[in-house]
Amino acid sequence: MRRTLIVGGGAAGMTAAIAAAREGDAVTLLEHTDTLGKKILSTGNGRCNLTNRRQGEEFYHSENPGFPFPALDRFGFEETLRFFGELGLFFRERDGYVYPRSLQAKAVRESLISELSRKTVEIRTGCRIHKAEKMAGGTFLIETEETSFEADALILACGGMAAPHTGSDGSGYRLAESLGHRLIPPVPALTGLFAASNPIKKAAGVRTEGTISLYVEENGKRRLLGSDTGEFQITDYGISGIPAFQVSRHGARALSEGKTVSASLNFLPEYRKEEAEELLLHLLSGEGDALRILCGLFPEKLAAVFLKKAGIPLRVPAGLLGEKRAKTLSGLVCRFPLEIRAVNDFSKAQVTAGGVDTRDVRAETMESELVSGLYFAGEILDVDASCGGYNLQWAWASGFLAGKQGRP
Ligand SMILES: Cc1cc2nc3c(=O)[nH]c(=O)nc-3n(C[C@H](O)[C@H](O)[C@H](O)COP(=O)(O)OP(=O)(O)OC[C@H]3O[C@@H](n4cnc5c(N)ncnc54)[C@H](O)[C@@H]3O)c2cc1C
Repeated sequence: MRRTLIVGGGAAGMTAAIAAAREGDAVTLLEHTDTLGKKILSTGNGRCNLTNRRQGEEFYHSENPGFPFPALDRFGFEETLRFFGELGLFFRERDGYVYPRSLQAKAVRESLISELSRKTVEIRTGCRIHKAEKMAGGTFLIETEETSFEADALILACGGMAAPHTGSDGSGYRLAESLGHRLIPPVPALTGLFAASNPIKKAAGVRTEGTISLYVEENGKRRLLGSDTGEFQITDYGISGIPAFQVSRHGARALSEGKTVSASLNFLPEYRKEEAEELLLHLLSGEGDALRILCGLFPEKLAAVFLKKAGIPLRVPAGLLGEKRAKTLSGLVCRFPLEIRAVNDFSKAQVTAGGVDTRDVRAETMESELVSGLYFAGEILDVDASCGGYNLQWAWASGFLAGKQGRP
């Protein structure tokens, strides 16, 4: 019987264990924390957004851009619903975002754990791994603090470095490197953006609709890295919320390379640029003070930040502003500039961008190109995705393929 050993009992590792056990392998799952699937419990604010009906290349990122798609073609949205449906889960879908019907992430984790037990997967928790090596005879030797294991196939599913309190502390990268694999330097992704001397700090706590566009300076030119629209939150350090999360991976990578990153915030994203300017100029030519007029469009704290930045006294009668100042104001509303100094660290990030270089991994099977019988699954690989169920979709898809080990 083929012995498959999996390191990491998260979303990807558990899926890999189930797929391998269904193939008839003798499967052992090693997890270094005291429990399986800790991170799943915090996903989707405890509700677990496990996949998304809207799939597309734009949602998945890697330095090797085509890599995720053979896996997602084989185990995509429909296969994920079928897989969990067979484990007894029912679903709730909102705008394509899929959750367990109970809206409890625990239900997702428990469905996997029950299947592991039904398939008699041997589970070892609290297991610290010192060493993993490929032996001359072709098998793998994995040494832990207490014992050692021999296996015909080894699957590394240790996650990245995001939310390390859930167990993903980067130790999987050391195992991959010890087996000869290269890394794309890991950086935090799906996380908040820190603004230098945060000019919108006075509006901290405000949640508002807007578009964030992130730019990098290269050879004296500004290049757009990414842009997203939705509800973001102004914080005392900068910007948080989904649009900031979505662009953060690009900012984190550029900052890690020592580049200058800036953001432009548009607080009237529902209007075209000229329409927004026209609207503001029209409103500011009317009666009442500037602050009161802007409060018809924006939360007061934010309106006050715009006026202060434009050097306009809050209570100045709007009619006295003059076209030049009104234009400065409308420029700020539609293109508020922020210098981005950093992104939040791994403790606050939802995922890791970077990881095991996928150029050394076969996209059809998740097998290493360098060491036969070695497979990777989930976030340990240099694949990260947008918010919306796509990171878990990647964990399920790559976990399933790694567990299959090239079997049809
Ligand atoms: C707060 C939060 C909310 C999120 N919400 C969503 C969401 O709603 N939808 C979505 O799609 N994605 C979400 N994500 C991202 C998603 O949870 C991850 O991308 C996904 O869980 C990755 O699965 P994984 O199995 O690859 O890694 P992990 O879930 O990190 O699992 C890795 C496992 O390996 C273990 N391990 C690590 N190193 C070793 C070692 N050396 N030896 C033994 N065991 C080891 C770890 O303890 C852990 O149990 C969220 C993430 C966070 C932090």
